[in-house]
Amino acid sequence: MKKINFNNIGLVDLHLHLDGSLSLNSVKSLIRLNGMKNCYNDDELLNKLQVSDGCKDLNEYLEKFDFPLTLLQTEESLKLAVHNLLDELKMQGFIYAEVRFAPQFHTSNGMSQEQAVAAAIEGMKKAELDSNLILCCMRGTDNHEENIETVRVAKKFLNNGVAAIDLAGAEGLFPTKDFRDIFEMASEEGIPFTIHAGEADDFKSVEDAISFGASRIGHGVRSVENEKVLSELAKKKIALELCPTSNLNTNIYKDISEYPVKKLMDAGVIVTINTDNIMVSNTDIKKELSMLAETFGFDEADIRRFERNAIECSFADDELKIKLISKYKLQ
Ligand SMILES: [Zn+2]
Repeated sequence: MKKINFNNIGLVDLHLHLDGSLSLNSVKSLIRLNGMKNCYNDDELLNKLQVSDGCKDLNEYLEKFDFPLTLLQTEESLKLAVHNLLDELKMQGFIYAEVRFAPQFHTSNGMSQEQAVAAAIEGMKKAELDSNLILCCMRGTDNHEENIETVRVAKKFLNNGVAAIDLAGAEGLFPTKDFRDIFEMASEEGIPFTIHAGEADDFKSVEDAISFGASRIGHGVRSVENEKVLSELAKKKIALELCPTSNLNTNIYKDISEYPVKKLMDAGVIVTINTDNIMVSNTDIKKELSMLAETFGFDEADIRRFERNAIECSFADDELKIKLISKYKLQ
């Protein structure tokens, strides 16, 4: 198998969580910035931030966000974390990224959701990479007000750093169908959205997300269980944000050879390849793309097509999309 040469490919990530993607350097800087004492060596830090090979499921995976979130409770920390992440992506050969986070998880020291988002946007503007933020609403039963506030804040910063909202969290415990009102509100406000669906829960979750009007689906791999859902995704050009290693971590698949990327493509579904959580999953976009190339025989033209798909179905405005596609020859 020929190795993919990434030098000529402009990389894109549409599904990337800030709190799960802090580099070790970033974490150390944040510890210092927060005036905390770092009582861990690098291995111990990695242990706190990364899933082990024995990770059981999505719920265990989600526990790895606890520590980084304690470091992201001030405006300065958020600014630094977003700036660092985008700089790191730029160094890797990225041309565009959509970074997501849940502002309601950054309020434990008194910061408001609005302040958190304003700080993240400031960090974003300091970096040189073209990017947008996606604000995550969270699955749960006692945070409805917080989710409504996230929609309000998204509207306030829409097209000024924020491009969309999302629904994240434990899909198996809190089904997508219970969050219809959040997305009705987003639709009324003209806020585009993606929804994590068909990951820990089955294809019906994707069906619900489509019925809400989602522009994209986070993961969505379990759509392969139902022909009707597949054809609807294809017909409506609703792209899937695939994150292969993350799905291996949460034991949706035991081996990458089971990953349904080909089945989805054969059904005419638009797929994009993403990392989900660079630190938690110990991955990066080149690893994800190389793993798929090795397993399924994709070549550089295929990889280029994934990146073009990603730009086309990104939440970037049309002007930026056209610029990126022509500048990086993604046709
Ligand atoms: Zn995700």
